[in-house]
Amino acid sequence: MTANQFEMAINQIGKRVFISYRSKDIKKAQKVKDYIISTEREVILFPPEILSAVGEILKPFEFLELMEFILDEMHKCNTLIAVDQGDFLDSYWTQIELTQWRRFNDHPQAFSVRVNEESGSIQYLGELNLTTLSNDEKRLWIRISNGTNRKLRESNPHTMSIWGRYARSCFLVPCGACGEHFLVSKEALYASVNNEFKTYCPHCSRGPFQFSEGEKNSTFYRKPIFIKRIGQKKPRLLDVSEILTLLVNDKELPSTIKLVSLPDQEIYTEGTKNLIGVATSILGLTALAGIIYFFSSNKDDTN
Ligand SMILES: [Zn+2]
Repeated sequence: MTANQFEMAINQIGKRVFISYRSKDIKKAQKVKDYIISTEREVILFPPEILSAVGEILKPFEFLELMEFILDEMHKCNTLIAVDQGDFLDSYWTQIELTQWRRFNDHPQAFSVRVNEESGSIQYLGELNLTTLSNDEKRLWIRISNGTNRKLRESNPHTMSIWGRYARSCFLVPCGACGEHFLVSKEALYASVNNEFKTYCPHCSRGPFQFSEGEKNSTFYRKPIFIKRIGQKKPRLLDVSEILTLLVNDKELPSTIKLVSLPDQEIYTEGTKNLIGVATSILGLTALAGIIYFFSSNKDDTN
């Protein structure tokens, strides 16, 4: 692939570009942004870690709630550029951005680039062959958006009762010793923060984990919770369908996710409305197959 192909691709894109990237690649994303701006286009590039900081843990619901911060801006763009340094999709956040891009566009225009480590030159990797979401998937996302958007939620409190048992009652914790994930009830989590409870990984028994509360930032309404890492293992990638399952699940957890709670603690469901039914039928029918992205065959040529 040559620089020419990148320039040719740029010539065909719209006036407003959304740049999707991994936080660690912010400098490279910035290079792409500068270039696109020099072609007299507008660029939306959110600062790194705006949705979640390194070492921060979230509730399943919050993985979707935070996404709302980017949707308005994304909606106004007509091209998405993925800065792919070889591991673009190894993150829940880049996956969710592509999912939303597919939701808003009937013909989602997107391509990927790679920035050379040494020279800083931008290499065109090819188009992302994205398809739009199915109507059922779009309906599910509209419900999720309506339920996670804070303004709508505050003006319409009954939308709050559509979530499954683990959506807002628990934090999702990655274990660096075994690479698996588990849920900790918020009561057990805050007791751990205060050293009144010890949390061990229910997969590998390593622990106790140390959790701490950070300073509140302007984006979110509660103080962030950080985990001190145990072990060096990279946690297994959680994909969008797994987070969605945790959002609506009301029964047993998938075997890959275990639960830590206080002794004798009950976790209650919030799911009195029918999101659970809608989502489980969609999840069950398609296994959210659309969440798996197919990069164009060009990508393989460049690896
Ligand atoms: Zn573990």
